[in-house]
Amino acid sequence: MRTAFILEAIAAVNDAVLNSEAELESLDREIGDGDHFINLKRGCAALLAMRDELAPLPPADVLQRIGMKLLSTIGGASGPLIATFFMTMAKVEKAGDLNSLAEIAAAFHASVEAIKQRGKADAGEKTLLDTLIPVADTFSRLTAVNAEPAQVFDAIQQAAEQGMLSTKDMVATKGRAAFLGERAIGHIDPGARSSQIIIHTIAELAKQ
Ligand code: ADP
Ligand code: MG
Ligand code: MG
Repeated sequence: MRTAFILEAIAAVNDAVLNSEAELESLDREIGDGDHFINLKRGCAALLAMRDELAPLPPADVLQRIGMKLLSTIGGASGPLIATFFMTMAKVEKAGDLNSLAEIAAAFHASVEAIKQRGKADAGEKTLLDTLIPVADTFSRLTAVNAEPAQVFDAIQQAAEQGMLSTKDMVATKGRAAFLGERAIGHIDPGARSSQIIIHTIAELAKQ
């Protein structure tokens, strides 16, 4: 993992989030309280503003500071969960440099597990985990057999898209959408969509 890549990813994710304003806002208006886009926009802006502070730091410190900053800026249900992801990535990176894709996949997997614990949720509950769990599984599976990086990133993007789309037919059992019961059926989960957009963007950057 390189600090320069993380900084590029922040800029690319910020663009992708800003380009998805109307969609993310309406998804969260349909089955939540409509603030998911604003929450993410605030987090992205805070990270962009840290660029000069982050640039000289080793990746573990960069990931740790990203986690802390997102914890204090995103808010909502998603903020602490996304922050937990980065703080766990930081911990694993600190324990031993993440050099190979297989090591990054293992760290990603551990970080998704940490989100599950923090939010007491799992697959099938109509949350961002329905994007992240299949991505973590695909990432681990393909790096374990030494698949070509381009193939790994393509497969990750497909897993994210399928996972995100799978939330449409689900009833939510966590988060605000859980109050809607069956009425949440037919709507994609906003956190699943934003996670898929973020994963797609970073995978696209990693292919270059
Ligand atoms: P809030 O619901 O507090 O307004 P956001 O709108 O920022 O927060 O985020 C909503 C998203 O958070 C949901 O779409 C869902 O994906 C995710 N979410 C909520 N609760 C959980 C949970 N317990 N585990 C995983 N993800 C969750
Ligand atoms: Mg919301
Ligand atoms: Mg809210």
